[in-house]
Amino acid sequence: MLMRIGGVDAEPGNDSWIPVINPATGDEIDRVPEGTKDDVERAVAAADAAFFVWKKKTQRERGMILFRAAGIVREQHKDLARLLTTEQGKPLRESIDEIRGFANILEFYAGISGAQNGELVRLGATGDALVTREPLGICGAIIPWNMPVLIMGWKVGPALLAGNTLVLKPASSTPLTTLRLTQILDTVGLSPGTLNIITGPGETVGEAIAEHPSIKKLSFTGNYATGQRIRERAAGSIKELTLELGGSDPMIVMPDADINKAVDGAIRGRFYNAGQTCTAVKRLFVHESIATEFSRKLKQNAEALRLGNGLDTGTDMGPLNSAIQRERIEILINKVQDAGQGTILTGGTRPEGAEYSRGFFFRPTVVSDVEKTSGLLTGEVFGPVLPVVPVPDLDTAITEANRTSYGLGASIWTNNLHTAKRAFDEIHAGIIWVNRHLTVPPEIPFGGMNESGLGRENGLHALESYSRTKTLLLGW
Ligand code: NDP
Repeated sequence: MLMRIGGVDAEPGNDSWIPVINPATGDEIDRVPEGTKDDVERAVAAADAAFFVWKKKTQRERGMILFRAAGIVREQHKDLARLLTTEQGKPLRESIDEIRGFANILEFYAGISGAQNGELVRLGATGDALVTREPLGICGAIIPWNMPVLIMGWKVGPALLAGNTLVLKPASSTPLTTLRLTQILDTVGLSPGTLNIITGPGETVGEAIAEHPSIKKLSFTGNYATGQRIRERAAGSIKELTLELGGSDPMIVMPDADINKAVDGAIRGRFYNAGQTCTAVKRLFVHESIATEFSRKLKQNAEALRLGNGLDTGTDMGPLNSAIQRERIEILINKVQDAGQGTILTGGTRPEGAEYSRGFFFRPTVVSDVEKTSGLLTGEVFGPVLPVVPVPDLDTAITEANRTSYGLGASIWTNNLHTAKRAFDEIHAGIIWVNRHLTVPPEIPFGGMNESGLGRENGLHALESYSRTKTLLLGW
């Protein structure tokens, strides 16, 4: 597929291409241009020309365009989900969730169009002031490969509704569904150039977006080190930044919780998307009075997950997105075993069988007796590995939960309101779930604390972040 600049498929400036690989088979399914700094310049010029047209539309008109796009996405959700599974690897039903999630986001923003009415401030003898909001201009977006469609929605929905234009870079391993969705948006009334997609490596295309002086805001989702690099590149211009970085979410299970529900929550929370979710359950703290039974059930349920090609009916967990992702997990597991930092209850290896031989599969893995110094607890593990740690009481659980530089999400599983309230008050994270994990509907703000990032996506908070106030003071 080609890049999208100015509302059309754009021929690349050079003849270098990036192959897109199906993670379940290792086959090349398509290729996209290896974009350059010049392509970013072309996209910025197109976004600049479109801005004056797009911002003149009323917010309601822009909202209607988002709403129409959501309708087409819903009509085509099966085809779009197949494409997403083929490039990303996740099971088809998770891709369908994600495509519908994208439509939900567009509909949410369409539904609140016109809500930003501004305010009148009465200043007595000084006069009256009208405080309005206006779009920022051209915005940049850089997207990872784990949830490429949902995260595209988190950025595109509020940015477009607020009246901005965009230059977006998808991850090099998952550009296809993003390009297809942009074609859809271009058919429903976006002014040409409102949403431009440049494919290509982070080090060239991504950094050119981060550095560009005409780009007024950049929203980036990816890992902490890249986020830091982007901050450095962006520092040469005045640019607002939203950084959605990594996480190492704790899940705490107290003895009064519904144990089966909590086991299901941990399995889904860790193995959804083969563990490649920013808010996945990455550290599980279980009260010691129930830890043995809990671990036994986890092992049983993890072993029941059907591993396979995401396109096959019945697959519960697909491959990892790339060979390098799997290699990172394997290095970590080998280290845990070599250093005696934990006991592998199940998994820990690639699955056997011809059907798995070419894809990037890794078995769902549960590890108990994990040492505090293990990389399973100290870093972000972006794959299907669940470390389980028994804790004697809530105080210890909260202390351990906070023993990380991240602060994205956390969950507490209990039926005691006071326990839940303490977790909410004392755990450092942008979202605390009670008897739930992972769910992030478009209505609520989402983002992390500490090394999990800056700013918020979703909800009215994101819409505000894509606009700025402008004030008219009337002296009578
Ligand atoms: P990366 O940071 O490596 O990549 C993310 C995006 O940044 C890709 O488009 C990549 O391009 C691009 N990129 C890479 N290097 C640069 C650079 N120097 N300058 C500009 N852009 C660059 O992230 P991962 O692939 O590791 O993605 C997973 C990470 O994302 C995890 O840490 C996860 O927790 C986090 N994440 C956070 C979320 C949140 O909301 N907080 C949500 C989802 C994921 P290319 O593909 O070409 O390398």
